[in-house]
Amino acid sequence: MSVAYEAVIGLEIHVQLITQSKAFCADSTAYGALPNTQVSPISLGHPGTLPRHNRSAVDYALKMGLALGCNITKENHYSRKNYFYADLPKGYQITQFNTPICEGGGVNIRLKDGSRKTVQLIRIHMEEDTGKSMHDQDPRDSLIDYNRAGTPLIEVVTAPDIRTGEEAYAFVTEIRRLVRYLDICDGNMEEGSLRCDANVSIRPIGTSTFGTKVEVKNMNSISNVRRAIDHEIERQRGILDAGGAVAGETRGFNALNGTTFSMRSKEMVNDYRYFPEPDLPPLILSDQYIAAVHKLMPELPETLFNRFTAELGLSEYDAGVLTDDKATAAYFLEVVKHTANYKSAANWVTVHIRGYLNEHAVGIDDFPLSGKRIADLIALIDSGQVSNSAAAQKLFPAMISHDGKSPLELAESLNLLQTGDADLIESIADEVLASLPQKVEEYRQGKTGLLGLFVGETMKRSKGKADPRKVNEVLLKKLGA
Ligand code: ADP
Ligand code: MG
Repeated sequence: MSVAYEAVIGLEIHVQLITQSKAFCADSTAYGALPNTQVSPISLGHPGTLPRHNRSAVDYALKMGLALGCNITKENHYSRKNYFYADLPKGYQITQFNTPICEGGGVNIRLKDGSRKTVQLIRIHMEEDTGKSMHDQDPRDSLIDYNRAGTPLIEVVTAPDIRTGEEAYAFVTEIRRLVRYLDICDGNMEEGSLRCDANVSIRPIGTSTFGTKVEVKNMNSISNVRRAIDHEIERQRGILDAGGAVAGETRGFNALNGTTFSMRSKEMVNDYRYFPEPDLPPLILSDQYIAAVHKLMPELPETLFNRFTAELGLSEYDAGVLTDDKATAAYFLEVVKHTANYKSAANWVTVHIRGYLNEHAVGIDDFPLSGKRIADLIALIDSGQVSNSAAAQKLFPAMISHDGKSPLELAESLNLLQTGDADLIESIADEVLASLPQKVEEYRQGKTGLLGLFVGETMKRSKGKADPRKVNEVLLKKLGA
């Protein structure tokens, strides 16, 4: 008899902070520079050099903790985590061990079925990145670029609260959205600015002790995090079903075939000999300082989402798209400053404006029309002067190429103003019905879906200028409904 299992998953996410300089010295952190050009003796860990705190790195870590409702540590100490590896020039990493800057807190996620869940955090601590080994640049040797060494990171560690690959996907997506809102990380997983390790174990449903965990690394996209976890759960289930035991180990993810492979086993676990970093003074954060940083934070996506759904009555889908990034949310807010038709404003931003941006591969910051202009366009549609389709297909593109003219002026010059003229609509409707006697007969036999055809034909013959609501009315009357 096969046992039903559930997965227990905890994530460790490294967030590379977009400060200008490194965590403990003034070397630049700019991405893409020639290898080993941003490496002072401090980055390289030469004897006699001394680290200094980078205030921005601390502020960024603080923002993340405040956004996630963590308890902020007022007295921060740093430790040395000692190990030998070629990409670690000092022979140790400066990190926070006993006093992570943030403890507790949580991330609210929404799943596809609409359910919600809070993933609790254990801690967020500050540390520095290593250099980068490159094994594929030279046929014989591994090369190392130390530019990244000393770049500030925060590591977000979750409680083992996650149960599925989908939940992990939602969690990492939320973290990425948040760091982008806070402007503390570019959130780019492909380039390694956001890195996620997944700790995965499974246990029989109904039991409360944890199974042996496997740590999976090397997922360079959010969907690969989900794939790796889904695969790992199945792999562990296979082992247990066959009567075996899961080995505690670190595994890598192979994106080409979606499987994981063993990298190192638990027996080789490092002893990092953590000890207090003697060269950095404790970092003290006063309530006043924390409050000042808090003040600089933008409205968070979750707050906006709740506002858009609860106060503006938007669907969760629309609110999700609109709060996906800060610039889109800001643009939408600008539109609704000038219109009370929130649903239509959401539709223009999520459909037509996004369509334009995708087509032209530009961001919303480069969109030429102000929010006010879009609100004017909505007003024109709502007054019945321009049809939705004429607005979308003709007026909107014209506004983009003739910014400066009002939508009404443009609609006039393009001859898009709708006619509510009942006589004209009546006569076109008569023509249409006369030209389709067979269809009219079928309609009368009960094929009422044909109404759409008659409406479409009438609109076409009016060159889009008839008000579709009137056309509907007139046709229904003529068809004797
Ligand atoms: P380690 O000391 O091996 O790094 P930690 O206790 O620091 O382990 O936890 C690291 C991460 O692993 C956390 O995200 C935690 O939630 C998760 N975790 C701990 N135990 C398990 C388990 N049995 N199964 C899955 N995840 C776990
Ligand atoms: Mg760990």
